[in-house]
Amino acid sequence: PIEQSAESTSHPRGLYLLFATEMWERFSYYGMRAVLVLFLTKAMMMDKAFASKFYGGYTSLVYLTPLIGGFISDRYWGNRRSILTGGLLMALGQFTLFFSASNYGAADTHALSHWMLYLGLGVMIVGNGFFKPNISSMVGSLYSPADKRKDAAYTIFYMGINLGSFIGNTITSLIGDTGNPADFRWAFLACGIAMLLGTVVFNWGKDKYLHTPEGVQVGETPAISGGIMGVYALLPVLLAIILGILWLDSAKFPTIAPLLGVAVVGIAYMIFSDKSLSGADIKGIMVIFIVSFFVVFFWAAFEQAPASLTFFADEQMNRTIFGFTLPASIFQNLNAIFVVVGAPLMAMVWTALGRRGAEPPSPLKMCIGLAMLAAGYLVMCFGVHNLQPGVKVSMFFLVALYFLHSVGELCLSPIGLSLVNKLAPVKFASLLMAVWFLANAAANYLAGYMSSLYPDPKSTAPAPEILGYHITNLYDFFMVFVVSAAVAAAILFLISGKL
Ligand code: GLN
Repeated sequence: PIEQSAESTSHPRGLYLLFATEMWERFSYYGMRAVLVLFLTKAMMMDKAFASKFYGGYTSLVYLTPLIGGFISDRYWGNRRSILTGGLLMALGQFTLFFSASNYGAADTHALSHWMLYLGLGVMIVGNGFFKPNISSMVGSLYSPADKRKDAAYTIFYMGINLGSFIGNTITSLIGDTGNPADFRWAFLACGIAMLLGTVVFNWGKDKYLHTPEGVQVGETPAISGGIMGVYALLPVLLAIILGILWLDSAKFPTIAPLLGVAVVGIAYMIFSDKSLSGADIKGIMVIFIVSFFVVFFWAAFEQAPASLTFFADEQMNRTIFGFTLPASIFQNLNAIFVVVGAPLMAMVWTALGRRGAEPPSPLKMCIGLAMLAAGYLVMCFGVHNLQPGVKVSMFFLVALYFLHSVGELCLSPIGLSLVNKLAPVKFASLLMAVWFLANAAANYLAGYMSSLYPDPKSTAPAPEILGYHITNLYDFFMVFVVSAAVAAAILFLISGKL
C-alpha cells in the first residue's frame, strides 16, 4: 500500500523532461505570435486587415501540419526523431524571422525581408507539424494504459504550456514591442534561442528518462524504418507546398479554407467507410465530429487575442499603470496566468461537484466554456459602448475579458481532449485527434478573417458586413462574438443531452 500511494502521487521524470521541452517550444510559439501582427503592421507596413488574415493563415496551417507529422512519425520516424527535427526546424524558422526583421527598412532589402518572413513562417509550420502531435502523445506513453495518473500528467503538461507562453510572451513584449519597429527582431531572436534550448534539453534527457514503467524506451524509430531518409528528402517538397499555400492564400486566392474542407471530408470518409466499426463506435465518433464543430466557434473568438484584441490594446486602451506604459502585446499574458492559477482550482471544483454527483457531463462543460466566451465579449461591449473618438478605454475590460475567456478555456480545452481520447476507437485514436486539431485550424483561419473586420476609423472604405450586419465601430465588432458564441452555446445546450 505504501508503494502504491507513492506511485499515485509522484510522476516519472520523463514527464518533467517533456514539460521542459514543451515549455521552451511554447515560449517560442506564443512569444513570436504575441508580437506578430504588430510587426506586420508597424515594420512590414501591412494594413490591419491583411495582417489579420496573414496571421490566421499561419496559425491555421500550424494546426494542419500535425496531420502529416503524426502520420510520418507513426510510420517512419517515431516521436523522438520527429520532435528533434521539428524543434530544429522551428528554431531555424525563428532565426529566419530575425533576419527578416533586421532588414525590413531599406528599400533594397525590403523585398528580401518579405520573402524571409514567408520562408521563416513556412519552416515553422513544417517544424510544428512534427513537434506538436508527438510531444503531446508522448506524455501518455510514459504510463501504462490504465494508469490513473494520466489525467494529472496532462494537467501538469498544460501548466508547462502556459508557463512557457507566459515567460515567452513577457520577454518578447518587453524587448520586441517597444515602440521602435527595429526592436521586433530581438523578440524573434529570443524565440529562436528558446526553441534551440528546448531541443537541446530534449536531446540530453531522451535516452535517460523517456521509458515506460517497465523500462521500455518510448518514441524510438518504428521497426519499419526504411523511409527515414526518404522523409528527409520530402521535407523541401513539403515546405514548397506550404509556402505556395501561404502565398496563394495571402494573395487573395482562398486556398486554406477549401483545403481544410477536403481534409475533413477525407478523414470522415476514411473513418466511416471502415466496416469493422460497431454502432457504438460510430455514435462516439459522431459526437467527436459534432463537438469539434462547436469548438471552432470557441477558438475563432478566443484567438482574437494576438490579432484584433492586440490592435485594440495598442490603439484604444489606456495602458499606463503607476506611470509606466505597458506594451500592448503583454496583455495576452493574462490568459497564461489565469490558466496556471485556475487549472488546479477548476480541477477541485469538478472533483467537489463530482463527489455530490453533480459534475456536468463534458458537452455541458463545453457549453459553459462557450457561454464564458460570450460573457467576456459582452463585458468588452460595455467598455466600448458609445465610445467618443480619441477616448481610450480602461484596461479593466480587457483584463475581465481574458479572465472569462481563460475560465472558458479550462471548461472546454482539456475536457475536449479527454473526450476525444475516451470516445475514439483505438484504431482511429490519432486520426480523431487530428480532427480536433483540424477544428483548431479552421478556427484560427476564421479568427484571422474575423480580425480583418476590425473597424478602422481612418478607413474610407465601406464598413464591412456579415449577413447584412454592418460593423461600423468597436461595439458592433465585439457584438459579433457575443452573438456567435451565445448562439453556439445555446444550440450545444439543447443537444447536449442527446450527445
Ligand atoms: N493553449 C493550448 C496549447 O497551446 C491549446 C491551444 C489550442 O488547442 N488551440 O497547446
